[in-house]
Order: sequence, then structure tokens, then C-alpha cells
Amino acid sequence: MPVRLRLVVCLLGASFALPVLAQTGSSGLTIPATTSAINSPTPLSQRVVAYDMDAKYNAKAHTLEGSETLTYHNLTGQALDTFPFHLYLNGFQPTSTWMREGKREGTRGQDFEKWDSKSYGAEEIKSFEVVGQGDFTSQLQYIHPDDDNKDDRTVVQVRLSKPIPPDGYVQFKIKFHDQFPETLERTGWNRDFVLGGQWFPKVGVWWHSAWNCHQFHAYTEFFADFGVYDVKLTVPQYEVVGASGVEVSSVNNPDGTKTVTYHGDDIHDFAWTASPHYLIQNDTFQGSMGPVQLRILMQPAHWSQVGREARILKESLDRFDRWYGPYPYKTLTLVDPDPGSQAFGMEYPTFITGGTVWWEPEGLHGFSAETIEHEFGHQYWYGMVATNEFEDAWMDEGINEYTQVKVMDSIFGPQASVLNLWGVTAGERDEARLFFMSLADLDPIAKNG
Ligand SMILES: [Zn+2]
Repeated sequence: MPVRLRLVVCLLGASFALPVLAQTGSSGLTIPATTSAINSPTPLSQRVVAYDMDAKYNAKAHTLEGSETLTYHNLTGQALDTFPFHLYLNGFQPTSTWMREGKREGTRGQDFEKWDSKSYGAEEIKSFEVVGQGDFTSQLQYIHPDDDNKDDRTVVQVRLSKPIPPDGYVQFKIKFHDQFPETLERTGWNRDFVLGGQWFPKVGVWWHSAWNCHQFHAYTEFFADFGVYDVKLTVPQYEVVGASGVEVSSVNNPDGTKTVTYHGDDIHDFAWTASPHYLIQNDTFQGSMGPVQLRILMQPAHWSQVGREARILKESLDRFDRWYGPYPYKTLTLVDPDPGSQAFGMEYPTFITGGTVWWEPEGLHGFSAETIEHEFGHQYWYGMVATNEFEDAWMDEGINEYTQVKVMDSIFGPQASVLNLWGVTAGERDEARLFFMSLADLDPIAKNG
């Protein structure tokens, strides 16, 4: 039973349309066949999930009160009576598996000795209802499929009283509370900046006849089913917000907050950011499936570099569109994160973070330009081809590194795609070769066990 058809947009020359329209199950539930966030009249993926979320962010405490209605379409070919959910923010607790591994192996230069309770992250389910079956809050169980760490709370499982038949639908109504961590690793806050990544209870993926829902580890990434996201974010009115998908509306509330609503089609995750300081550059790329609205959120100290960031983004879109297939989404947001944060260099659907420094010289291409091209490349490999980044991280990073060399060489010339400064030049290909030769034995592609 093919459970996961990945996004189909004539990638690598193969082009066909999926005859997928919303089908309503006997329960009356459905996954919407909306297309307002893509340049296609029909859906581009086999949609398994629909997340409808309402999130209120407290910018002072870095907390979030969330409610989530998740509709799940059982395309596994068999009845399902258990459902596991990721609670990634619980990885940022002192005894989690993520933290054990991070302390042992190091992450992004963190000094864990200085890390204390005000920097912790947490994700707590306040209530959990299965529509038609009742309240399961007290029956939730933390599971740890990967190790014996009983303190790890990054996966929670619910066992239903009635299984969901093949092709059936189930709906979960979940209330949750997030405490964002100080950014140790690509999610959380730094001063008045926040990156909302891996912030909501996210159902696992049925993959190779079993649930694939691993604990959060220091060196693995993410895997989820395609679907539809409708997200309301409430933040103070002074915040500048960016997120996955298209912005549908922004309404000021009487209490000094505003509610910004986003919609995403054919994506498998949703991230957002807020900061009072972002300066915005809007731009458009004319792709072969239609226009893509580009939104660049820059730190004021880096504003002089916004032209360079827009250029690398558009040139990357151009090369990918011509060589690998169209970018089908209507939006792409590039975030320049708070300089002191660990939120740089990350990809989420239609949303990437770069990273620069105020003094970066024009001829140095191997830093922020390379980061932007690299994270954009993930829109294709992580975002659309969407291999299992947990089991086979090398697939995504490997082909992305290959396309990075091709695209950077094409933009800046093969001799100067890393550096063209003060008469010194260096190319991507040599840099990549040196990098991999220095690490050849460290990271085999696949291991047993
Ligand atoms: Zn990468």
C-alpha cells in the first residue's frame, strides 16, 4: 500500500497530476482540497493531515497557549488504534535524550554548563479529545521507542477505544502549552526574537508498516505527512511576523495583540517567527508555475545586505526552476535571525532562516549566500521529495550539497563561488571536496543497527 506519495511537481522531469480531491469519510470528516497557497488548480500531494491551530504567544514569558484540531486520513490500508505524537520542545529538558546526546557530542558550540532552568523548553498537553470517542487526556502515555530513557517526554501515544478503519478519518482536539527554550538549536527565543519551530503536537508517519515517530535526538531531523495547515497566531501588535504558507489576514485585537492567519497547502510542517525589529523587503519571482511572493525579514543592522540576499534567493529559484522543476508554492519567507541566537541556517516548508554578520564583505560567497542557497535547496529535497530525514538524513543533505555546488558555481562562477575577495578566489567544488575528505570516516552513509 503506497502510504506516502510525495509532492508531485514534475521534479527531475517526471510530471503527472494526482487525481486527488477531498473525499468525505462516513464520519463527515475530510482533508480540504484547497489550493490557495500553491500555483496549481489541484492538490499536489496525497494529503494525510489537516492541522487547524490557534496559538497565542506570550512574548514576555516566551510561552504559547495552543489549541489544535488535527484531522487524519487513514491511508495505511489497515485499521489503526494507536497514534503517536511528537512533543519536540520537551527535548530541551535536562534529562531528555536530546540533552544527553547534546552534552556528550556538542551542538552548535553550546556551553551546557551555563544552561539553566530559565532556558529550558517544554510542551505539555492540557487536554486531548478524540472526536466521537471522548476525553483521552488521562490515558496518554509517554513512550521512548529508541532508548531506555524513561525521562524522555518527546513522544506521547494515545490508544483509541475504537480503531479507525482503512480509509477512515479521525479527528483529535488538543490543547497544549509551550515553553520555548532559549535557542539552543534552531527553535526558541533570544532576547525579543522567537523562532517557532517544532512547536505543536505533531502526529507520526505510518511508514513501512509501522509508526515512524522517533524521540527527539541531537543529530536527527524531521519527517511528517503532507497536508493542509490553517494557523492563527496571536502576538503583540508591535511584533513583525513571518510564517509558512500565505498570510490570509491580520486583525488587531482590543487588548494590544493582533491575530495573523496563515494557510498552507501541500506542506508537512509549519514554522513562524516574530521580532519587533525586522525590516521587510518584499519581492517577486516569476516561476514557471506562477509568481512566488518573496518576503525577506532582515535585522536592521544587516539591512545593507538585503539586495544580496534577494539576489541569491531569486537566482537559486531560477536555477532550481530550470534544472529540477518548478517551485509550486506562492510564497517563500527568508528570515535573518537574531545575531545572538542559534536559529540560523534552517529549513521549514516555504520558510527558511539564513544568517549573516554586519561586516560580511561582498566577495565572500561561502557564508550567508551559501547558507541561503543551501536552505532554499532543502525546499526541494526536504520540502517536496521529502525523504525520511530521521532514517536517511544523508539523502536530503547529500543531494542538497550536490545541487548547492551546481547552483553556487552557476551564480558566481566555478572558481569563485566561495570566495572572490582581494584577488583570492575559491570554488564550491573544492571546498566541498576538502570538507568531505576531512570527515570521510566520521559519518558513513548507513550503518547496521
Ligand atoms: Zn542542510
